[in-house]
Amino acid sequence: MTSVSRQGVRRPHAAAARDLSSTLDALLVVGMAATRADAAGAYLTDPDEGDLRLTAARGSPGAAMGHRLASGEGLAGRVYAERRSLVSADVLVDPRALHRRADWDSEPPVRSFLGVPLRAGPVTLGVLEFTSRRPDAFDPLQRGHAAVLGDAGALLIEQTRLQAEPPRAALRGEPLTGDDPVALATLDGALRLQAANPAFTALVGQPVEALLGRPVMAVLPELGRPRARDALEGALHGASAHIGRIAATTQGGAQVVIGLSVIALGDAAEGPRGVLLAATDVSERARLETELRQQHARALEARDRLRAVVEVVSHELRTPLTSVLGYARLLHDRNDAEPERRAHWAAHVIDKARMMARLVDEVTTLARLGSAPMRLERRATDMGALTRQAAVEAEAGSDLHRFEVDVDPALEPVLVDRDRVGQVLANLMDNAVKYWPQGGSIRVTVAAEPGGVRVDVEDRGPGIPPELAEQVFEPFFRARTPATRDIPGTGLGLAVSRGIVEAHGGRLWHEAPPEGGARFRLFLPAGGGD
Ligand code: ADP
Repeated sequence: MTSVSRQGVRRPHAAAARDLSSTLDALLVVGMAATRADAAGAYLTDPDEGDLRLTAARGSPGAAMGHRLASGEGLAGRVYAERRSLVSADVLVDPRALHRRADWDSEPPVRSFLGVPLRAGPVTLGVLEFTSRRPDAFDPLQRGHAAVLGDAGALLIEQTRLQAEPPRAALRGEPLTGDDPVALATLDGALRLQAANPAFTALVGQPVEALLGRPVMAVLPELGRPRARDALEGALHGASAHIGRIAATTQGGAQVVIGLSVIALGDAAEGPRGVLLAATDVSERARLETELRQQHARALEARDRLRAVVEVVSHELRTPLTSVLGYARLLHDRNDAEPERRAHWAAHVIDKARMMARLVDEVTTLARLGSAPMRLERRATDMGALTRQAAVEAEAGSDLHRFEVDVDPALEPVLVDRDRVGQVLANLMDNAVKYWPQGGSIRVTVAAEPGGVRVDVEDRGPGIPPELAEQVFEPFFRARTPATRDIPGTGLGLAVSRGIVEAHGGRLWHEAPPEGGARFRLFLPAGGGD
């Protein structure tokens, strides 16, 4: 329906038809992806007939374009009449659904329906419908997506229409009235406000009398910025433009984000007469977009972290696994070797396998920490005995270290998960051994404190630089000082340990002793955090 005017200039309504259908098509494509629908359609109000007309459709080959529905008729008609979203889990048994409809005759039949109104302020422009061949196909998240799309879509449709066909009143220079949801204002050749509708006065927070005759840049100073100013100047020379987003402050002080169409008024033959401004408050859409971008960034970050986890874990598993395989092969091939040598190889296998088991434990604990609260099996526990036991095991793994455990006689039992707290103590003690290869005496103190028990594990190794005292508790962080750089590890132990202690309502931190070395302090509340 392209019509060409005398001057050979394409008339606005031809462009309108093309732009509106591509806008609708884009809405349906996005909506189908967001709701995982099999088919989608847009019913728009027909202003002449007062009913709804299927104006765009996707996914249903037999879609009856132009199909008409009265307000309140069938599911889509009901969405329109009630201005609310509607879901039908199974259309075939839903009495609200129409029994026959051309595009629903094809096999397999439509089972689920999701409809959202296209609401632009107080006006309903139509309905977006999404359908699926599966029953009960739309969950609350998908309904939410569709609802947002309905509101954003209505604005887009409004702007597309306006861009193509400015209101006649504006073209005739008449005052703008009515309850149009889009803020409209006309400007004269000097960019002074000539007319403004109620939505515009509401947007800028001033009565129409205060606006008329004033330069638009005095009313909305943001329009003085280069991009907006260029668009306004351009419109005076006949070039319409659209600016996606302008952050503006209304006279009332509110922060809004507006989408602005700047439309040249006047006939190509006579030359431009002025400018029509059409602004919609897109703050909500801008907020959603920002949120979406942040979600995307978080997803990318999580993906990177996952990659790092996989890298570290597979690297750290490979080393002990190579040892296990080597010694297991020796045990298998050399059953003629002396019993002591065989026992030595077996001890290696057990030791490395234990390392691997610990790593797997740590990774699973860490993964759970991020998702659900840790389940603890709390029992009244003598922390002195638990600490001594851990020290005996840690000392057994080294000829160069001695553990001196000092237990406060006034200690009361505490309610803790023994296995978990044992894991924390083992980790702190193993670190003291591992990061102090020269060896020496490692001091462990168990002291009664008001409300609980404190355990210190202290070595005289290279210690931790004060600026890294907190970072060492982050998953995968390794201090890599010149003294500790070549010592293998994953950077998981302290993160997991802190997670366990905090699940008990306690605290774990590093406090450098004045004599040098590292001192990890652990406080556990007597009641186990309840
Ligand atoms: P890993 O030992 O596997 O690297 P941890 O989470 O147990 O992981 O420790 C994190 C980092 O903290 C270590 O890489 C090390 O740099 C530092 N660290 C932990 N304990 C000590 C210690 N006793 N002495 C010196 N540095 C330590």
